[in-house]
Amino acid sequence: MNLDRRQFLFAALGLTTCTGEPAAASPPWLDAHVHLFGTGDAGSGCFLSDAQRRHLTFGLLQRLLALPATGMDEAYVERLTTQLRGSPVQRALLFAQDGRYDRDGVLDRAATPAFVPNDWLFAVCRRDPQRLLPCVSINPKRRDALAELERCRELGARAVKVHPPIQDCDPADPRFLPFWERVAALGLVLVVHTGSENAAAITSTEVCDPARLENALRAGCTVVAAHAGFGSFLDGLDFFPSLQRMMRRHERLYCDTAVLGSMFRWRNLPRLLEDEVVVARTLHASDWPFPSNPTVFWNKLAPGTLARLAGERNLFTRDLLLKRGLGLPEAVFTRGGALLAGLRSSQTGSTSCRQPGRYSG
Ligand SMILES: [Zn+2]
Repeated sequence: MNLDRRQFLFAALGLTTCTGEPAAASPPWLDAHVHLFGTGDAGSGCFLSDAQRRHLTFGLLQRLLALPATGMDEAYVERLTTQLRGSPVQRALLFAQDGRYDRDGVLDRAATPAFVPNDWLFAVCRRDPQRLLPCVSINPKRRDALAELERCRELGARAVKVHPPIQDCDPADPRFLPFWERVAALGLVLVVHTGSENAAAITSTEVCDPARLENALRAGCTVVAAHAGFGSFLDGLDFFPSLQRMMRRHERLYCDTAVLGSMFRWRNLPRLLEDEVVVARTLHASDWPFPSNPTVFWNKLAPGTLARLAGERNLFTRDLLLKRGLGLPEAVFTRGGALLAGLRSSQTGSTSCRQPGRYSG
């Protein structure tokens, strides 16, 4: 996208001043769920298992992002930063991806589908610290989990992600209580995968139930249930009612809209929009680079919007405009920024700092 087109988009969305610059007073639009992946060919420390390389999503994303067979680490970062800068999204919460761990808390490389080290995440975020906010990934099973939390907080982490079905850990496991307490004490936002996982091998679906987040919430964590507990048409899983119950009991529980604009997910967002309690704690999130598919929402979008989105190649822009077109309110797009704004960041030099674990959004 060239600058003129981007300025046009910003103006159309009411995000610019008369000079075409983003309006400084407007709260930033933040995408709260963006993936960093790599193969390790640039010394990033990333890796993908053979099974993951054979998974249909690998070839799909390789084609979608026009990634070369070699030089994939850097090419991926280039696609990510180029698309982000060319979109109306002003900030992105970027995820590392921890692996599976054995009984001794040691990384089980052979059982890990995809791995993105926290240090590679920090290195990438430092390239554009105004736009990229680091969300580290720490499996609470790892034996240095608490020390890694402290280290990452010192390095400027805003949030920490746990993926129970891929990382083979159950958030309800009482052994993880000290981990949740430290997350809360450090004021990190906790992002946990809930609902279906179709992009990698998993060990369990039960651990995808938002009810499993009870311990972390009681420990004082602000928790984002990624994907809002929804399932896809493919597997029939549905933990959204569980999320609805949990949200009514825990005011620090949020959810995101990651992947909910994709194929096989056309029922998810219309259901989410029916529940005011959930909408009031929903964060905009794309799940980049997993693409939205506007055509499956053909009966819910204005014809002009559908045509415009069908031709949109920037995945951040397509997802954001789709969700605005489906009627998600403005607050959804700024809420992630507000939730993360209270953290002191050594990367951005921000000095405001609320009480750890006391975010109200
Ligand atoms: Zn994701």
